[in-house]
Amino acid sequence: MGELLPDGSEKGLRGYTQERGVRRRIGLAPPEGKIDFKAPYKRIATEEAWTFPELVKAQMDYLQSPDAPDDPALQMAAIFANQPELQVMLQDLGELRLAHMDEYGIARQLLLLTAPGVQVLRPGDGTAFAREANDRVAEACRNHPDRFSACAAFDPRDVKGSVKEIERAMQELKLNGAVLNSHFQGHYLDEPEYEPIIEALAANDAALYIHPTAPAAGKIYSDRGFFGALGGFPHDVWLHTMGLIFSGAFDKYPNFRLVIGHLGECLPLHLYRFDWMQNNADGVPGLRGGQPAVTLKHPVSHYFHNNIWITTSGVGWEPAVKFCMGVMGPERVLYAMDYPYQQSSDEVAAYDRMGLSDEHKALLMQRNAEHVFRLPLQD
Ligand code: CA
Repeated sequence: MGELLPDGSEKGLRGYTQERGVRRRIGLAPPEGKIDFKAPYKRIATEEAWTFPELVKAQMDYLQSPDAPDDPALQMAAIFANQPELQVMLQDLGELRLAHMDEYGIARQLLLLTAPGVQVLRPGDGTAFAREANDRVAEACRNHPDRFSACAAFDPRDVKGSVKEIERAMQELKLNGAVLNSHFQGHYLDEPEYEPIIEALAANDAALYIHPTAPAAGKIYSDRGFFGALGGFPHDVWLHTMGLIFSGAFDKYPNFRLVIGHLGECLPLHLYRFDWMQNNADGVPGLRGGQPAVTLKHPVSHYFHNNIWITTSGVGWEPAVKFCMGVMGPERVLYAMDYPYQQSSDEVAAYDRMGLSDEHKALLMQRNAEHVFRLPLQD
């Protein structure tokens, strides 16, 4: 997701200015480039957003009702709902999306129900909307098996309903993982009551993609214009990921696989420090609302080498991509475009130009996604 403006307005073509018809880059935006349509790899984009009209309406109805909660994530839904052109792209699971994929050389999209998802709806409504979402996206995958795959939505507030829906989505609908839009009214999956969801994800071999949402401490961020990509988004997924590590989830369920976007929400840059400072939280009792002490079996960095994968959504920046591949391993970094929030032919071309070996480029753009999300293997 790109930078969000507090008033919900579009900032035009982000990363560039137009002066007298001449487009100029701002800062580190990629230079003009041509997409290599004969590249020796398929591009599988792994954080591609969609939604459907009934969900948008249910979010807005709740937000505008007298009993609406003070939930920054629900409030964020209004920003997207009020952008008609964006909604047309988000709600299309057919010709328009496929035409854009062809234009940008994207072989396959992994579809994620866009933030804030079903977890901001009126309590009790989320699971029914998750089922509807999963039925619809499964139909799109059946209609275009060579182009679409999808992660399943679920509402973590309904633990039993989530477990059943994850099982149904993986076993009956044959979806490729699950997506959560980070915190739900200030709660996180690391809290003990949500453990059955983690157990179900691991048992069904479903990678969990944690996508950002507006952080629960919304006003602190929105007062500065930071609730989106400038701060709130990465901070909230950082908290969620570290919480899961220190809750012992990956020790108890070694098959539990986590995917986070935006180059790992900055976490890979700090692995060294996390290992040094691990004792701040490791073995400390009373965390997460009174949880008994959890002592991790490994240094924090271990989980980034065994349980966690990252995608490049929104950060098509060669030095950062190379750094992450270096410290996590080339098999742990996956390409993502973040359609329709961020699509740029110059950015796709920048990936084509990246100075990586053919093997590492194929892992980044195609093979890692096939492995993590159990996609059909393509030549
Ligand atoms: Ca996104």
